[in-house]
Amino acid sequence: MNSVDAMIKGHQPINSLGCLTDGLPTSELQAGEVAIVGAGCGQLDLMTIKAARIVAQADALVFDSLVSSDILTLVTPSCQRHFVGKRCGHPSIKQEDINALLLSLAQQGLKVVRLKGGDPHIFGRGSEEALYLAQQGIRSQFIAGVTAALGCASSTGIPLTFRGMARSVTLITGTKMTDADNANAPSQWQALLTAQSTLVFYMGKEQATSISLGLLDTQCAANLPVAFVTNGGRPNQIVTYATLDSMADAALTIKDSGPTLIIIGEVVSVGQQLSALLDDIDFVSPQPESQPHSEYECEVLYA
Ligand code: SAH
Repeated sequence: MNSVDAMIKGHQPINSLGCLTDGLPTSELQAGEVAIVGAGCGQLDLMTIKAARIVAQADALVFDSLVSSDILTLVTPSCQRHFVGKRCGHPSIKQEDINALLLSLAQQGLKVVRLKGGDPHIFGRGSEEALYLAQQGIRSQFIAGVTAALGCASSTGIPLTFRGMARSVTLITGTKMTDADNANAPSQWQALLTAQSTLVFYMGKEQATSISLGLLDTQCAANLPVAFVTNGGRPNQIVTYATLDSMADAALTIKDSGPTLIIIGEVVSVGQQLSALLDDIDFVSPQPESQPHSEYECEVLYA
């Protein structure tokens, strides 16, 4: 176990990397306070150190189904665990009930951690909970997490921005595609694509047909590349490549029930090109000619 692992597991300061922590405020959670924490979109190692520190302090943890199970190993044995995510075949817990649970735990004087997949501010309702708690006189704080768009981009090698190809990124919810409010959405997305924005759809797999038809209707290129990333950042990650005119069929081939993100834009082909090149490289672990002898040599090597 290295010093970072030890710090996360045991919530110990990093002695050998003192410069990382010196001068930074320690992440302290007060009794009766709620920390709304992003767990990142993958496993434990996609969580920030600050988030891990806060989770380790929790007296009560309220968590979602998108939170990876290995993250739960960070809490103390005495910490109460409240699962409030969707369970197969059961309706999901109402937001009002989650709000009431958070309030009750905080009013008992517990250090409460509300742990959400990805980042609490990206389609995470984190601020709805914070507003409710503040209205009841309860303090909360936010801890950022790696949102699915960023985690999936890294784990697939798909750059969300790319010089000359993608100048911005748009994060979109794929839900409620049939609402009257969303009737004009495809033409807005098409305008974004023309302005070189990568489109990233959260919660969009079930709406792949509507997304595809909407964009095709607005004269988007039928061969525009699309990637579905399922279980992004996890060992069981699946990447399904398609194009705008084949994405509805491609979505049906994804049998895994894990979370899926859709990335649409020319940048997907850059990721595919990179993956193909990487697959062709035979990896031979380089052997160091000699071990560094002194701290000074070490510094030079890593400068
Ligand atoms: N707050 C979360 C998003 C919650 S909405 C975040 O910042 O990531 C839930 C949607 O997020 C899922 O339907 C899926 O589209 C996406 N998502 C979350 N985790 C994911 C993962 N590991 N791989 C792929 N998509 C993911």
